[in-house]
Amino acid sequence: MDMMNIAERKLQTMRVLDGQRALVTGANSGIGEGVARALAEAGAKVAVNFVAAPEKAQQVVDEIRQAGGVAMAVRADVSKEDEVRAMFAQTIDAWGSVDILVNNAGLQRDAPLQEMSLRDWQFVLDVNLTGQFLCAREAVREFLRRGIVPELSLAAGKIICMSSVHDVIPWAGHANYAASKGGVSMLMKTMAQELATKKVRVNAVSPGAIKTPINTDAWATPEAERKLLQLIPYYRVGETHDIAQAVVWLSSDLSDYVNGATLYVDGGMTLYPEFRGNG
Ligand code: BGC
Repeated sequence: MDMMNIAERKLQTMRVLDGQRALVTGANSGIGEGVARALAEAGAKVAVNFVAAPEKAQQVVDEIRQAGGVAMAVRADVSKEDEVRAMFAQTIDAWGSVDILVNNAGLQRDAPLQEMSLRDWQFVLDVNLTGQFLCAREAVREFLRRGIVPELSLAAGKIICMSSVHDVIPWAGHANYAASKGGVSMLMKTMAQELATKKVRVNAVSPGAIKTPINTDAWATPEAERKLLQLIPYYRVGETHDIAQAVVWLSSDLSDYVNGATLYVDGGMTLYPEFRGNG
């Protein structure tokens, strides 16, 4: 929290999401956890989705509540149609509707192409891409049913898809992951185009290297971190709150004219390969 700068604190005191209801998938760790906290601080009620480790989801919920926010834990495997439908029904039952979906749940199963099993290919595509489709479809059904509530937002609903710098940077050794994020990017743009007349906004955030459990190997030792920094012009590894603040903005009416955009929050990583390190 001490990493948080003055601008972030000011944005939070504006409570730009007051009264809105958000669902964040994969919110019991990493980027999702940071996003859940930031949305709650901005005034939204937050459904904290998890599939495993319920105690971690409960901890996020408890901490949001202790800070004066409203949250609940909701279990679902985002790649399972019936579980996704049940999770949305549970959230809508509790809070009347959903205004914001953060399609965040994602994972890696890395392997050289010649060794990648069909199971690991399919698993990553199922969670990272099909999961985003299934959650977006339920959210959109609810947005269209409810329509715009002018006291809450100019839009009928907002979807923020968590993509990656690897929606544009190929990633050797991670074909399943890169393919899933490339897919997320085109799913996001197509939904944005298709739903714009209904006043549903769909955008993506593409994080670079952020310190989370998904990539501990890449930053947890000084040697690894030094190597990673060679790819990041801004010369620091990102934190979850860097991503969370972008999600708050894209969820709010401050970005009302932003639709179908991908916000790269990566310290300039996508400017690679021209960048060759500091000196
Ligand atoms: C991956 C991380 C990686 C980062 C930058 C992310 O999408 O999940 O493991 O560090 O991209 O390469």
